[in-house]
Amino acid sequence: MSMSYKNLLTASMALIGLNGCVYGYVYDAGSGSAIQGATVTVLSGVCSGNGCGTSPTYRQTESSGLYVFDAYGNHNGDTQIQLLTVASGQEALRLYYTRPGYRSVSVYHKPKYEEVTQDGATYQISGVQPVYLCLTTAIDSDGDGVCDEAEARYGTNPYLTDTDGDRISDNAELFGYNGVDLRYYGADPKKKDVFVEMDYYPGLKPTQNALDRVTAAFAAAPVTNPNGTTGVALHLVADQQIAAADVDTDLNPVWTDFDVIKAKYFNARRAPFFHYLLVADHYNAGGSSGISRGIPAHDFIVTLGNWGTPGGTEQQQAGTLMHELGHNIGLRHGGNDDTNYKANYLSLMSYHYQLGGLRVDGTDGVLDYSRVRVAGTYESSVNEVYAFAPVSPTTEADLAHYGVRISNVFVAGNASANLDFNNNGAIANAYIARDLNFDGDTLDYIPAAQNDWTSLVFDGAGSIGDGWLGSTQGLSRSEAFFVVPEKTESCITESQTRGGR
Ligand SMILES: [Zn+2]
Repeated sequence: MSMSYKNLLTASMALIGLNGCVYGYVYDAGSGSAIQGATVTVLSGVCSGNGCGTSPTYRQTESSGLYVFDAYGNHNGDTQIQLLTVASGQEALRLYYTRPGYRSVSVYHKPKYEEVTQDGATYQISGVQPVYLCLTTAIDSDGDGVCDEAEARYGTNPYLTDTDGDRISDNAELFGYNGVDLRYYGADPKKKDVFVEMDYYPGLKPTQNALDRVTAAFAAAPVTNPNGTTGVALHLVADQQIAAADVDTDLNPVWTDFDVIKAKYFNARRAPFFHYLLVADHYNAGGSSGISRGIPAHDFIVTLGNWGTPGGTEQQQAGTLMHELGHNIGLRHGGNDDTNYKANYLSLMSYHYQLGGLRVDGTDGVLDYSRVRVAGTYESSVNEVYAFAPVSPTTEADLAHYGVRISNVFVAGNASANLDFNNNGAIANAYIARDLNFDGDTLDYIPAAQNDWTSLVFDGAGSIGDGWLGSTQGLSRSEAFFVVPEKTESCITESQTRGGR
């Protein structure tokens, strides 16, 4: 930053902490050099101050490529105050970059002020990401509105509209889209992002630690990214508490009543990017922990209001949120099938682990989807010494970390070896029959278990994705996908955790 903020004006002191300078730099995508004389126009936003001029307000870049909408009116000695605020009903400024000979660029910027101190005075400043302008003749191989030379500067793939494969285009992750500044919420075009807006009933907001644990579980995911990191960036935005007058204690019928609240509390502009979570009391007059609006889907609900601990324990909150979100991103109760309680499926998506978590290296309560692949098996013929078999690239050593619940009970041993299938306290090297899906018989073939993390579906059944994805990735799913009503996942009830089913 080479700006100077001198002689803070008394008139603007009252605004400190709420508003400040919005600044950024503009460069040439080909040469990387600063562009002087580029115009940055405020297409959406409100300007107050003596430097606003006639609408729309604009600013031109200096020789360093810097522009500043200056709330203090003293940048480079001029006294023009241009204090920008987001327009009513919007969540971001829209800044429009133009320069003759170059393609124009729209950037949505939701100010995120940081405090800087200079010469004894304190200022609030919000930086817009550097913008590399492309010549009108520049090639844009993937047609995502970011030319190849600019993609080289940003480090994104010039041949993919969605470099990180999270169903949000490079353009939208870099510059925002449809009035939403995704970068504000942490978007990175080179790392998989999942956005969730959460609104909640009074008294039912999950604890911060519950939310942090889910975010941490995603961050620790065995998923690789183009920027060399692993994990999925879950941006869980705790947005609004539902007003008492709008609380519908029993959402019934669930999605009809849900939609009434969503229409009022969810900014539709976020729909191409954000899943919507409502933390409510209960639905359909029942005691289910939550429900997903299909698999995959855009919407989900957590309903622990009428549970023994109203709103759920922290473990129940975290586990249920992650379970229902799992349905939103394509996971079923058996991973890629609907067989619940599969003893070989080590995932929060199984009712065996939703509420209590997995047991890993002897530690209970671990939040995770399946990160291992486990072979299928016949219930009629299991061997306690050999336990389950890994499927490559999963190894026996990987499986050895996991404790296993069978018919709602953790049995001794681990998924790799010496697993006390019949829970009789002894390990027998013999083939026995055992109910491995908690359905009361030993007649079934238990399908193989997948690595959930490499099977996530980011498109919300066609509802997640923006207009820059291009013709090769239309907004509707390429394959037919149909979710029958009973598969809309009304999830576990509290009674099911007490030995019932
Ligand atoms: Zn479920």
